[in-house]
Amino acid sequence: MTSNLIGVLAALSLAIGTAASALSQAQQAATIEARTAAGGVAVTWRLAQPTTEVAFLDPAIIRNLWTVTTPGLTLADGVVKSDRPFDTFQILIAPDAAEVDRVYMGLTRVGAGHVLYGPGLELKGMDAELTAQPVAGETTLPQADAIKGYAYIGPEAAVTRRDGGAVVTGASVPASLSKLMGDGFLAAQAFYGARLGRDLPYQPVLIVTTDSPGPTTFRGDVTDTGVISTRFFGTSWDAPAEDVAGPLSTFVWHETFHLWNGHGLTLKDGDSAPWLHEGGAEYGALVAAASSGVIDEAQARSSLARRLNGCRATLKDRDYDPRRLQSGSSVYDCGVLIQWIADLEVRRASDGRRDILDLWKTMLDARRAGDGYGVADFRALLPADSGANILLDAPGADRWTGIEARLTALGVSLVDQPGRGDYRRAALVHLNAQNCTGGGTGFYQVREGIQLDTTDKCGVLSGSPVLASIEDHDPYADAEAMFVAIQTRCVEGLPVRYRFQDGQAVEAVCKAPLAQPKAWVVTAAPALTTRAT
Ligand SMILES: [Zn+2]
Repeated sequence: MTSNLIGVLAALSLAIGTAASALSQAQQAATIEARTAAGGVAVTWRLAQPTTEVAFLDPAIIRNLWTVTTPGLTLADGVVKSDRPFDTFQILIAPDAAEVDRVYMGLTRVGAGHVLYGPGLELKGMDAELTAQPVAGETTLPQADAIKGYAYIGPEAAVTRRDGGAVVTGASVPASLSKLMGDGFLAAQAFYGARLGRDLPYQPVLIVTTDSPGPTTFRGDVTDTGVISTRFFGTSWDAPAEDVAGPLSTFVWHETFHLWNGHGLTLKDGDSAPWLHEGGAEYGALVAAASSGVIDEAQARSSLARRLNGCRATLKDRDYDPRRLQSGSSVYDCGVLIQWIADLEVRRASDGRRDILDLWKTMLDARRAGDGYGVADFRALLPADSGANILLDAPGADRWTGIEARLTALGVSLVDQPGRGDYRRAALVHLNAQNCTGGGTGFYQVREGIQLDTTDKCGVLSGSPVLASIEDHDPYADAEAMFVAIQTRCVEGLPVRYRFQDGQAVEAVCKAPLAQPKAWVVTAAPALTTRAT
């Protein structure tokens, strides 16, 4: 079932062997078996030959909750060791304790089952094959190549098999969320399949769990086996808050786009320019969801405005620096802006006959003849004077007037009209910067309210307090009045009075004026809706 896989991995292990191992080390191989156990998943490695030390291939996976259950062996810094040679060992893997930015979860609970990250089990310099062993009432997915991505091991009862793929739903997932995700997964595949082609190299699987350890409200990722893992934290998923419901409506559409643009093919600039595949997925999701009636044009416009403002807030007037588009929300914000501009341009140039999905299809089809796709391939499809050049090439000082003029010329109406979220962000980020040393910090919206994301180097604001009020204003509901009050205090160099939800009252320093935030509202724009075939 995995002859192709073994060929690929053999090539990989040879390359590593040449670079890193002594010549005397013979070609190693391992079989790996995983099964449900008390407290997580028990994994057994069987090596072709005894050794005293093996190292895991991917050091980024978090393994601090992995316990070696074979006597006489230890696991530290991604290395399993013993004084005596061993050819088998077992580790009990407990679910990860937290979501960490841009790191795959080693193990996540899905009701009574789990999703295990196969590549996290691979050993350096070895071919490996992973078999998940179901116990009574259990099943495993995907059918093949489990070592290459996420694998589900758990109750068969959690799996729904439909045309277009299987959906695994954790036992505690509310029906409304399960329907939103499952229906979106299938509808998105139908839409992308019609526009981008149906030749996916895998049978897609969607996993939905509300057993995320947090702190991220919800998060998803896709692996090379076509398995999408979506993870929700907390208990409010039967009736999510308004500011969560918006992004949630297109979440699975975004992840499903990655089945086409992120996996089963090579991303030439996946790490150096993630804005291309992430912006493509996020903007493609908006277009597809709008065209399928999942969101309306007003929702699409407010989503685009949020991305535009987010990109402007990150890049500001500084000249382009690729590092600013390699992590955090700017990857998505600026990525969407570039896709939007490209879409407006191609639709205008073709009188609406072509759109952004035609550009993606051209690029994805061409990848078969070559070595994947990247930024140069994408930019080659844009007009020579594309508005994307303003963002990527033009001097920073001219960027936002240039973008505004270009969007206007393409039929978009922008009005500078900050909302309470913009006032809140401007005020809290400014005060954090005034009080913290060693880098700016932000804040989270948590169930209890607004929680600062502060380290211990933020004076009286240290320790990530949850806010009750600032200058007697609620930072959530009353953000604009709070902003004005803070602005008045700062301009006079007076301390700003905070009250925390634990009852503590503090005075934070403010010696620099607080600038008016800028935030566009998109009052009109060409419709995103496009053809579904
Ligand atoms: Zn993504």
